[in-house]
Amino acid sequence: MSLLNGGERLAIEEFGNLIGGEWRACASGKTFDDLNPADSREIVGRFQASSAADARAAVEAAAGAFDGWRKTPITRRAAILLAAADHLSSNAAKVALELTREEGKSIALAKDEVLRSAQTLRFYAIEGQSFTGETFPNDDPDMLVYSAREPLGVVTAITPWNFPISIPARKIAPALIAGNTVVFKPSSDAPLTGYRLAEAFVKAGVPKGVFNFITGSAAEVGPAITGTPAVRAITFTGSTAAGEQIHRSTPLTTRTQMELGGKNPLLVMADADLDKAVDLAVKGGLSLTGQACTGTSRIIALSSIRRAFTDKLVARVRSMKIGSGMDPTNEIGPLATKKQLETVLSYVEIGRKEAQHLCGGERLTGAGYDHGWYVAPAVFTGVTQQMRIAREEIFGPVLAIIEASDYEDAIAKANDTEYGLSAAIATRDPRLMHRFAQDIQSGTVKINRTTTGNLVNAPFGGLKRSSTSTFRESGRGALEFFTQIKTIYQGI
Ligand code: NAP
Repeated sequence: MSLLNGGERLAIEEFGNLIGGEWRACASGKTFDDLNPADSREIVGRFQASSAADARAAVEAAAGAFDGWRKTPITRRAAILLAAADHLSSNAAKVALELTREEGKSIALAKDEVLRSAQTLRFYAIEGQSFTGETFPNDDPDMLVYSAREPLGVVTAITPWNFPISIPARKIAPALIAGNTVVFKPSSDAPLTGYRLAEAFVKAGVPKGVFNFITGSAAEVGPAITGTPAVRAITFTGSTAAGEQIHRSTPLTTRTQMELGGKNPLLVMADADLDKAVDLAVKGGLSLTGQACTGTSRIIALSSIRRAFTDKLVARVRSMKIGSGMDPTNEIGPLATKKQLETVLSYVEIGRKEAQHLCGGERLTGAGYDHGWYVAPAVFTGVTQQMRIAREEIFGPVLAIIEASDYEDAIAKANDTEYGLSAAIATRDPRLMHRFAQDIQSGTVKINRTTTGNLVNAPFGGLKRSSTSTFRESGRGALEFFTQIKTIYQGI
């Protein structure tokens, strides 16, 4: 088999599922292709189009491995996470290249993502060893009362294409260190880096069945890995629509953690340094081609600076260099999928009808663009609360500027959304910084920082329809989702 790659024909590599410790083709033998968004003629890899029967086999393998894994000494579990982290770090350059080829982000951001994934594995290898229960004072001198945290069983991890290795890492590492076994289904649009994560665990010596990797469409694989009581927890990141559907259809005994969409605002106050505010808007809204769940999509600017800010923003956006993530001088890459390209173009049309279009939004053509999914970053102004571009998640390089008369008006507009993932403010006034942190309905609050970006060791998650919000991802608290509490009364 062969593929086009800059005119060269190369062999297409086929990647299997990992079930019960074996790399296998799916039962039907059907496959699907992972395409390069910068040049969709290039097939990055060929993956298993698994069926429900393959998915059930993955759940059975995970269930069969659970007892052995939960009894495996925690230092041994930690050693496997650390060895997998080392494997990823030492292959970071290669995996980053694959990430750029399958998802489109810049090679620098791809390398950061791979290294952050390794850091996540290391973090949980350590944190998981000191995540303990409590002891409880009581009146009986002969009784010890304590709580213990124990693993749940089989955990399903379902992830999107925009961070195809760091999101899986931040789900799978706490699940495994806590003693759960895992069935991991990556996005069908970027499965290769997830495969590399699975491979790192195999190289690290993870026992058979503890970590299972299965590719295939949500329709085929989804119900078998979410709708069965054999799965004790589902950790999902993706669209609000899919997350809500899975959440509704899971058995009562299955825990869910849903990290979903956003419509993240950046408030620009009258006293803000406008150059810095433009920087926050561009980096937060456009650096991943607008394809970050925490990406800035609404800019709420006070009337007094709205025009000056907008002029600076548009000048900067117009000057941005667009092209393949392989070229480090490019600032914006392609959209990751054809579907995403069509969605963004359709919202640009909607925006043109309902607001004032200032720049961008057209599909790019010509040398270097013709075979990729490139759109020029777009800016709209005169956007009001009722407009669809102010309310719906676009997930692309489209910025909507909304005018506000003062801080109160700005915060009311910022909160007038069904989402609550991330929000930022640009101001020099400490009083406004403090008020914003209290007033904004958002799981992540940034002050003079981009809406995007979060630490491995700090809690992450949204409010409102951005998350189920009972359990946070990242940080030490993530271990709560993957453990249950038992209270023990021990007398003599
Ligand atoms: P998506 O279409 O919801 O898909 C996400 C994952 O779920 C994919 O692996 C998909 O499989 C799978 N899936 C979809 N429906 C399913 C079902 N009924 N049962 C089982 N699996 C199902 O989202 P996406 O387009 O990949 O990602 C973009 C979305 O993710 C945006 O809304 C973004 O805001 C959100 N996101 C949120 C966060 C966060 O932390 N809050 C982070 C990143 C992205 P297939 O690929 O096979 O369809």
